[in-house]
Amino acid sequence: MNSFLATPIAYLKGVGPQKAQILQEELGIFTFQDLLFHFPYRYQDRTVFNQVSLIRPEDTYVQLKGRFTHIHESGSGRHKKLHAQFTDGSASIELIWFQGFQWLKSGLNVQDQYIVFGKPKFFQNQWTIPHPELNKVTAETELKGFQAFYPSTEKCQSKGLHSRGLAKLIAQLLEQSKGKLPENLPGYICEVMHLMPKPLALQEIHLPSNENLLKAARYRLKWEELFYLQLELLLRKGSRARKLSGFQFTEVGAAFNEFYQKHLPFELTGAQKRVLKEIRKDLGVGQHMNRLLQGDVGSGKTLVALLSLLLAIGNGLQGALMAPTEILANQHFIGIQELLAPMEVKVALLTGSTKKSERVKIHEALLNGEINLLIGTHALLEDTVQFKSLGLVVIDEQHRFGVAQRAKMWRKNKIPPHVLIMTATPIPRTLAMTFYGDLDVSVIDELPPGRKPIHTIHRRENHRQKLLSFIKEQLDLGRQAYVVYPLIQESEKLDFKNLEVGYEQITEFFEGSAYAISMVHGKMKPQDKDAAMQAFVDKQTHIMVATTVIEVGVNVPNASVMVIESAERFGLSQLHQLRGRVGRGAEKSYCILMTGDGISKEAQKRMDTMVASNDGFVLAEVDLQLRGPGDLMGTQQSGALALKIADLARDGQIVQLAREKAREILDEDENLQLEKNSYLKETMRAVLQGKPNWGRIS
Ligand code: ADP
Ligand code: MG
Repeated sequence: MNSFLATPIAYLKGVGPQKAQILQEELGIFTFQDLLFHFPYRYQDRTVFNQVSLIRPEDTYVQLKGRFTHIHESGSGRHKKLHAQFTDGSASIELIWFQGFQWLKSGLNVQDQYIVFGKPKFFQNQWTIPHPELNKVTAETELKGFQAFYPSTEKCQSKGLHSRGLAKLIAQLLEQSKGKLPENLPGYICEVMHLMPKPLALQEIHLPSNENLLKAARYRLKWEELFYLQLELLLRKGSRARKLSGFQFTEVGAAFNEFYQKHLPFELTGAQKRVLKEIRKDLGVGQHMNRLLQGDVGSGKTLVALLSLLLAIGNGLQGALMAPTEILANQHFIGIQELLAPMEVKVALLTGSTKKSERVKIHEALLNGEINLLIGTHALLEDTVQFKSLGLVVIDEQHRFGVAQRAKMWRKNKIPPHVLIMTATPIPRTLAMTFYGDLDVSVIDELPPGRKPIHTIHRRENHRQKLLSFIKEQLDLGRQAYVVYPLIQESEKLDFKNLEVGYEQITEFFEGSAYAISMVHGKMKPQDKDAAMQAFVDKQTHIMVATTVIEVGVNVPNASVMVIESAERFGLSQLHQLRGRVGRGAEKSYCILMTGDGISKEAQKRMDTMVASNDGFVLAEVDLQLRGPGDLMGTQQSGALALKIADLARDGQIVQLAREKAREILDEDENLQLEKNSYLKETMRAVLQGKPNWGRIS
């Protein structure tokens, strides 16, 4: 990093050791560079104001300019509030603070003019603004059209490092930086991609001259961030492919051929065939395969996995299939054993509940190569599990596994086994390009033939009786139904109560009928759970009332109704997973989303999306918009998304462009060894510094 940018923040005028410490602890700002990269989260055009008398319910935010007429506190202790009456000449409005207003109160002055920004609320017949942002009008604040607002914390605020305080420091630093800020993209890229020079971008993002320049500045900074990231990912991908040799599967092998010709239960879909070809090609060249297999719920990923594993087995190697839960591992084991029953392939199951004596036998049989295919859970990762010669690992429902766990699988052989990762639900393209940017991606974009779209509807409590009658109609037609309740750790008790109440309600409704009801929840012993599930599979019971333990791993083609209770509490991908439990047979299937009356806008959008689409890829995109990438990929990996300015949910196009550019550069210069690119390599390292997790994503 350039030495000016690396200057410790304590050396900035107006900071000093005490403030420096707070900036470090609260905002992670250690150097000049960090402060310049503390970007505004919002801008306000200071030339446009609302009038108090004209505030309308559709105004989500208003900006007012005026004076305080009256300031007082009410309540005591924790219930203390600060009220300030504010007028702009057209009318008066109350501003109100419920906490953290001590520092504010001492600074408010009825003589001064202020700019107020906030969300108006209509409360007790008048407009109020709770916790507005406040800025005193000074000659300085009037100067610029746009004001930037910076993220800050309560502790920062109490030391004068509120948005305004930070703005002042940044403005001063920009002044000091003139002529010292380096460009960090080569001219030839800036030119073709129409990117603003870096120093100007930093200036404009903090102190925008106008909207267009602000946009251009944001674009430039996002571009740079995403470009270096993609460059790094692609560079790594290339060098791994060259460095790591993998087992070369020289032939298709007898195992694959026998299965394909004699025991394949159905014709593969076009997409399955295409993906299988991609995999076969990878495995044939002697380089290490690291491939992500994406496909919607029910698109038939398991069969592709099995065929790939048979390739390994036919080449004299072993295979492993790892699933995130015991139920799922069990299901794979049972299903695959059945499919392979007529063949000479030895399959074993290893999970947390495998008995010690059995375990010892498995360990031995793995080492001497007797077992061809091992199916299991995390238990596969244990160091005691050693293979004679592991050729391919398939990881199902990938995003529940951490990166470190995947790496562990690799190390099970001197030559690392090939890796095929399968996702439970589709991941939006931008996320896939970033999270799995150094993997090759295969997509199954076609469902097996004969699937009918699941008819999805959203209903509220007042439809309860109709819902019960509908379930009965379906049971009368010989079908079965699921009723699923949410299970969220923090309120497990409450969830359990909901489940029980629901169970009683259904039992009461079906009292005296021929229909039996099973219940499955997380508190049951595994044997009881299995017994209840089995009863449902065997059609001894007709309704399965359950928590989300059934989310993955059950396959009952006769079930045609999926009722999801408190559906507003589920994310889109989970709803889609649950819905995927029905529609597996030939019958028309239904998914009914039950929610309360007053659900949030976001929840409503989720319900609408579910009703409108059966396509997991479409849902994944909407989910990304609604929840953001961190939530979507799970907390385990969200740290890896420490992007400063780019937003994977919104900037998909830039990701794409940046990746193409990076690829173009590497196509010409695979190790960035050319003189004109040495600079790129150095800068990439510097830019990615402080993003510790990127290196570990794959
Ligand atoms: P997922 O991709 O969600 O893991 P599965 O592999 O569990 O999907 O497949 C879903 C269902 O579709 C299974 O019952 C499977 O047997 C069936 N299936 C898979 N491939 C085909 C095919 N080509 N034709 C018909 N049915 C198929
Ligand atoms: Mg699956």
